[in-house]
Amino acid sequence: MLGGIEASLRRFVHYDYKQDKLRGSFLTDAKADILVYGMGEKAVVEIAKRLKENSILDGIPGTCQRFTDQQLQSHYPLLPLKNSRETVLLPSLDQIAGQKKLFLEAEIEIDRNLRAGSRRVIIQKQQSHWVLQHPAPAPLKPVELDELYNLPFSRKPHPESLNIPAHKMIAHSLTIVRGCSGNCSFCAITRHQGPAIISRSKESIVRECKQIIQMDSFRGTISDLGGPTANLYGTQCTIGSCKKRDCLYPKVCSNLHIDENIFLDLLSTVSGIKEVKHLFISSGLRMELLLLTPKLLRRITRYHTPGSLKIAPEHSENELLCLMHKEPHSLLQNFVAECRKISRESGKEVLLTPYIITSHPGSTVEHSRKMVKSMKKLNLQIRKFQDFTPAPGTISTAMYVTGHQPGSKKHLFIPRNQAERKKQREVIERGFNLGSKKRNRQ
Ligand code: SF4
Repeated sequence: MLGGIEASLRRFVHYDYKQDKLRGSFLTDAKADILVYGMGEKAVVEIAKRLKENSILDGIPGTCQRFTDQQLQSHYPLLPLKNSRETVLLPSLDQIAGQKKLFLEAEIEIDRNLRAGSRRVIIQKQQSHWVLQHPAPAPLKPVELDELYNLPFSRKPHPESLNIPAHKMIAHSLTIVRGCSGNCSFCAITRHQGPAIISRSKESIVRECKQIIQMDSFRGTISDLGGPTANLYGTQCTIGSCKKRDCLYPKVCSNLHIDENIFLDLLSTVSGIKEVKHLFISSGLRMELLLLTPKLLRRITRYHTPGSLKIAPEHSENELLCLMHKEPHSLLQNFVAECRKISRESGKEVLLTPYIITSHPGSTVEHSRKMVKSMKKLNLQIRKFQDFTPAPGTISTAMYVTGHQPGSKKHLFIPRNQAERKKQREVIERGFNLGSKKRNRQ
């Protein structure tokens, strides 16, 4: 039985950057019986129950199974092995190996079904075996998420993780929200956590805060109340959901209910705990949502920003932003203007740290030059940036592999070789006097 984020993102044919090749599903590579994808709590419980009853592991939501032709026929005799109302048939490993553009089509299809909450089974042939993905289980209800966080997880670090910098970041932090409906092309969070936004209750968060306060290492600072996107906390779709589930692009959907008072109330409550001297939001914050929640923006910039506010415009050039499925550069311009206004009014400068990606599919050295100019024009300093890494399970990775963008037959420039990538980095390093050490963010 396989699980965890690596297995989850590699459940179908995927690209492995280190090996620079398309690989079959983890499930067939490892010759496992079953793979749990996504956050997995419901699937794990169901598997345990079935094993206890000594019954078969068929049809469990949130899992993939591996079968030969014969086994598939005997387990699911009525399942059509073609696109139908019940089934999505993805291009096979062999077909993709022979015609790479099919990889992009497969990735788009997996994404589309995930966002739509489709109940269809997805199948893909991997040489002699089939991978069969059952639909995802219903997202946890907020009360179920609370129950989960109520379980007696240990916050004690494993002795070997004590010297890991990332552990320091998370030791006194809490997850307040699960899922992301942001849909950035380069991000795999939605493929794993799903597009539904589930927020924990204030009571559950406060309970966990009190546990953190009891830790020997706690010195008065909660380092993060976060999640994939911290300020999606408390948002919800007023009509339940739609098939596209693309709630923030190209603009914030009018059906997305945003109530800044929910987050403000949480911040006040946690800050009000006697032992909490500092409370920070270190997770990513979406600028377009912050512009719609002015009281929250003011409060976060004033009290809950550790040093500078980390924002993720990712680039300045609109053709790249469009490929990344991110809002145009005008959003950053508006956001900077708003933060400067807050600085003037409050007398305290709001510092901004923009995160940038270089060498994303479509990106050229000229794009980097233009980006440096645009950021300087806004008086923004790039401190850290990141070379695009084609991680499994993203549309950007499929663009990288195929050289195509979704919905277009036009060839896309792909900065694949290291010399080209280095040139793009150097433009930024020179433009902002950065040492190469500052290149990788986090
Ligand atoms: S209707 Fe709008 S808010 Fe609701 S799921 Fe769809 S895109 Fe998101």
